[in-house]
Amino acid sequence: MIKIENVTKIYSNKRGDFLALDDVSMEVEKGDVYGVIGLSGAGKSTLVRCINLLERPTMGKVYIDGEEITAMKKSQLIKVRQSLGMIFQDFNLLMQRNVIDNIKFPLEIAGVDKVEAKKRALELLHLVGLEEKSHSYPAQLSGGQKQRVAIARALANSPKVLLCDEATSALDPVTTLSILNLLKSINEKMGVTIVIITHEMKVVETICNKVAVIESANIVKNGYTKDIIGHF
Ligand code: ADP
Ligand code: ADP
Repeated sequence: MIKIENVTKIYSNKRGDFLALDDVSMEVEKGDVYGVIGLSGAGKSTLVRCINLLERPTMGKVYIDGEEITAMKKSQLIKVRQSLGMIFQDFNLLMQRNVIDNIKFPLEIAGVDKVEAKKRALELLHLVGLEEKSHSYPAQLSGGQKQRVAIARALANSPKVLLCDEATSALDPVTTLSILNLLKSINEKMGVTIVIITHEMKVVETICNKVAVIESANIVKNGYTKDIIGHF
């Protein structure tokens, strides 16, 4: 489903070059809930942003469903990006739009007709359990509710993969668990492959079947969570 092959990422700026990923390879299979764990600054976010090319690898290749996206033209890439949903620690909701219009937004961009978009948005609202907040604005929601809206929006175009960048880091433990349970049910019921960046082993233990441990730009361990736990 996702293959990262010998990816190196060097950030270059006025202060010089910084090696954020050093010849990293990993493979995520369909149906995985794959954790990417490590300390702050290890390169987790860079690695996951190389999967949808929010960051361009300096060297190496990325494949989605067998197709090399690092070799694609912009027009081809737009389609692939629709198959990769993403959620963030700070939710990234559109503050001027209410809940239902936030969820509809990617459908509008994709050119889905109004009636269909509304139907789809209502289904997603139901999926994340926020029907009664349909007309609320993000500022009126709790953190957990905001992340539910972000998840619904990320799923709007039926992606095969959901990339989660510290999606629960801003949430309290109880809310974190409810979001992780929602992600697990999306994985199980909808067959969405999930990649989760986290700095918390608890998150990995709770829902990830596999995990990669990143330390200063390198994957130092990866495999089934049950084999990695205890060696971390
Ligand atoms: P993590 O997600 O594990 O916290 P990141 O992938 O965000 O790590 O960052 C890895 C390293 O790359 C950090 O040291 C960070 O400061 C550096 N970095 C990230 N983005 C940039 C950038 N745009 N320019 C320069 N350095 C960056
Ligand atoms: P969640 O699991 O969704 O995060 P919380 O326990 O945080 O739930 O929130 C419970 C209730 O408190 C929610 O119905 C929400 O509407 C309300 N609430 C929480 N934070 C805020 C806020 N900053 N502004 C308005 N309402 C809030």
